Amino acid sequence: MSPRPPRSASPSSTSLAAPADPPRPADASAPWHRLTAVETLTALGSSTDGLDPDEAERRRAEHGPNQLEERGGTSPWRLVWEQLSAVMVLILIGAALLSLVLGKYLEAGAIGAIVILFAVLGFVQEYRAEQAIAALRRMTVPVVRVVRGGSPRDLASVDLVPGDVVVLEAGSVVPADLRLIEFANLRVQEAALTGESDPVDKRTDPGDRDDVPLGDRRSMAYSGTQVTYGRGVGVVVATGMATELGTIASLLQEVAPERTPLQDRLDRIGKQLALAGLIVAALVVAMGAAAGESVTNLVLTAISVAVAVIPEGLPAVVTFTLAVGAQRMLRREALIRKLPAVETLGSVTVICTDKTGTLTQNVMTVTVVDVGGQRVAMGEGGPDRSTLPQGADSALLLTLLAGSLCNDTSIDRDAFGNPVLLGDPTETAFVAAALALGVDVEEIRRRVPRVAEFPFDSERKRMSTVHDPLLSTVLELTGLPQDAPLVFAKGSVDGLLERSTGAFDGGRLVDLDEAVRTRITTADDRLASDGMRVLGVAYRRLPEEVDLADVEAVEGDLVFVGLVGMIDPPRDEVRDAVATCRAAGIRPVMITGDHPLTARAIARDLGISDGERALTGPELDRLTADQFAAAVGVVPVFARVSPEHKLRIVEQLQSQGQVVAMTGDGVNDAPALKRADIGVAMGITGTDVSKEAAEMVLRDDNFATIVAAVEEGRVIYDNLRRFVAFAVAGNLGKIIVMLGWPVPFLLAGGEFETAIALLPLQLLWLNLMTDGLLGFAMGVEPAAPGVMQRPPHRPGAGLWSGGAGWRTAWIGSVIGVVSLGVGFAYHAADRVEWQTMVFTTLAFMQIFQAIGARSERESLRAIGLTSNRVMVGVVGAVAALQLAAIYTPLRTFLDLEPLSTFDLAVPVSLGAALLVVIETTKRFARRGQAPG
Ligand code: ATP
Repeated sequence: MSPRPPRSASPSSTSLAAPADPPRPADASAPWHRLTAVETLTALGSSTDGLDPDEAERRRAEHGPNQLEERGGTSPWRLVWEQLSAVMVLILIGAALLSLVLGKYLEAGAIGAIVILFAVLGFVQEYRAEQAIAALRRMTVPVVRVVRGGSPRDLASVDLVPGDVVVLEAGSVVPADLRLIEFANLRVQEAALTGESDPVDKRTDPGDRDDVPLGDRRSMAYSGTQVTYGRGVGVVVATGMATELGTIASLLQEVAPERTPLQDRLDRIGKQLALAGLIVAALVVAMGAAAGESVTNLVLTAISVAVAVIPEGLPAVVTFTLAVGAQRMLRREALIRKLPAVETLGSVTVICTDKTGTLTQNVMTVTVVDVGGQRVAMGEGGPDRSTLPQGADSALLLTLLAGSLCNDTSIDRDAFGNPVLLGDPTETAFVAAALALGVDVEEIRRRVPRVAEFPFDSERKRMSTVHDPLLSTVLELTGLPQDAPLVFAKGSVDGLLERSTGAFDGGRLVDLDEAVRTRITTADDRLASDGMRVLGVAYRRLPEEVDLADVEAVEGDLVFVGLVGMIDPPRDEVRDAVATCRAAGIRPVMITGDHPLTARAIARDLGISDGERALTGPELDRLTADQFAAAVGVVPVFARVSPEHKLRIVEQLQSQGQVVAMTGDGVNDAPALKRADIGVAMGITGTDVSKEAAEMVLRDDNFATIVAAVEEGRVIYDNLRRFVAFAVAGNLGKIIVMLGWPVPFLLAGGEFETAIALLPLQLLWLNLMTDGLLGFAMGVEPAAPGVMQRPPHRPGAGLWSGGAGWRTAWIGSVIGVVSLGVGFAYHAADRVEWQTMVFTTLAFMQIFQAIGARSERESLRAIGLTSNRVMVGVVGAVAALQLAAIYTPLRTFLDLEPLSTFDLAVPVSLGAALLVVIETTKRFARRGQAPG
């Protein structure tokens, strides 16, 4: 429950100091938007300094976490039903009922038990997979900037309480219902609540009517809506289920579970196999009927065949493998938000990446300031005086001071009084440099208050603020006029130059003529060529007639003051990751908002390009469609691009058949992230909006993590493919046995004991205990050597591509024919163990096949016999189960005979022989593919 503003009593009757109990009127439609900001704060027992931390703690206990109760997702019952309604299970249920009618109670009971076991297993796996994905999603719980006890801090949004003062910026998802108390060009997109996709301008003055719809309450920002532009501060009026979103949360649509393309394909294969089972069953029944089999036996046969063909373990193994894959990726710092991504990652062919923070460390340090054509080297303790030219003092001061005023860094103090800077590294670098120069930034910010601002956005590539210095003398040193509001702007040098008419040169204001312009551009290029991030700083004395709401008007007629060069070292691990990408046939492409020369220098350093020219956004705009397509196909570096270019580049790459992973962090990146096959958001610096649009979130913002995730994706795809091939080969073997068994007897026209090679229970045992268990072990096969040294598998390449279809066909046939042969031989010798021999031969051939199938290409020796420990354990367990089936009382249930040591040696040797054959064919295949 949340506090509500008083409806009639005067809000100011409540004391500003945190009261023991905030007022709590009960009406859900209480008109917070009707109160003024001050009244709201008062009513909530808060102030612009936020809540006292102890009071916040108390409210947290009272109001509980700020989160919606989960109603979405698939309900457990729904999952149970999905398991039960799968075609395969329906056939099994039919088989159990038929057995019941026939009086085969043991079979009926066992099939029934297996149906239940299968459903439970499938359910548990699916449920765990769902939970795992839900848990992964919860890990992206947004962090919000709140003010408590007068100082800003970052807090998990679940810990917000009514009365908290929250800072909003572009890209934030509003974390609770807020009454706004401060705004700067704040625009909020409220589609989540109102369905209206055009962003709405927000302000703080109270509305004049109670009964306006949510979309028209301009002084409110509601939980779940997205800040698309600007900045604002609001006080929390409702949290969790008490928010407007909470009240409609129960109406939210159930989220449909996402299935991967491979899962869909497997579903189809499952259905096809089930259908094949029915056809084969009909065939066997027809043959049996021709031979004069009893009806009971015929029905039993039909059941057996259907059971033999259905790959019972398939769905469970697939979900298990995907979920385990997502966990493995998490261990490597890649957080998967949508399960299909696990698989798509394996087929990524192009990775488009930002520069700042992903390829570089995003640790910005100002190392050079260029003023009036003079370079000043900056050290930790301020400027290197020996490089400080005469007269540069005031320009240097002005550059760093303006850059620190036009800046959203919050400055806190640690226990020793040292400044702690919180904010975007590009901005904190300015403040750090100003502090090192001896500027008291906090004091100046107080004395020269900000009266308007145009926040940074990646289209304009600059930000500007308007300040009122009229009451202050602190700017005297800089020589700035103090008789009017001042505009400070910082951003890309090229952009600022376009909007400047003057320059500050050696303490003098000069015209920005061609010579000065060239000098500044040359300095910009020189710094950028060294791989530095370069920002320009400018100011303006704002004439009275300029409309403070008009960004074009305010950011004109600027006076260019200086350039600031910052280093942002590349991340060490990225160089190797780029090399891995190349070896793996994946093209890394840098797409950055930064200067082309900076981009080029970093790209060359990391091996992304050989130093070719970078194409810029404006250049892209001038290309024809064909030229654009050609450029996107080969150019490794795009610079000075806007988010809209990112979208165009993704679309173009996709139309060329590429599978694209694209990183992004800003609110404007969301369309490109959504469009990319794998949208990758930044866990640390990314906005909430970008995270919501992404398939994957990098917990460490690191490019190397994308490459690691791609590797895991490849391993998972390979494992699933190999498992399916393994399961299908096994089932093919069983079909051959079931179909082949009656044939010779039919041809000979003689009497035969039975048309049924294996009983339903025996087949179920083989499918579950053998295929199922071995399948799970295949799902956790570690990366084979060389996964990242071959090209990505073709997107949409079938499961049977690359020879897998043939391999499956011949291995399945060998298993079937050999098992059948053993059965015939024993039957001909009048041995009662013939059925047990067929059963055991199938089992051991599959065990050895599983060992051979661990790699499609590499020999067992190359991948290491024991490198998949789970497989070693499972092979031991399955062999032991097989022996238990023959030598323990289980035997009576399964209708088997004990085998002599010699008889047992036959299936084991045949299995081993199959492994030798598989390994030999791999050797030939490798030789065939070897170059030369
Ligand atoms: P990437 O897209 O690789 O992360 P980036 O971070 O350099 O690159 P943007 O953040 O869009 O891209 O920055 C583009 C340009 O905008 C920078 O080169 C710089 O000139 C300017 N800029 C960046 N941050 C700020 C800021 N906080 N204030 C003013 N200008 C900025």
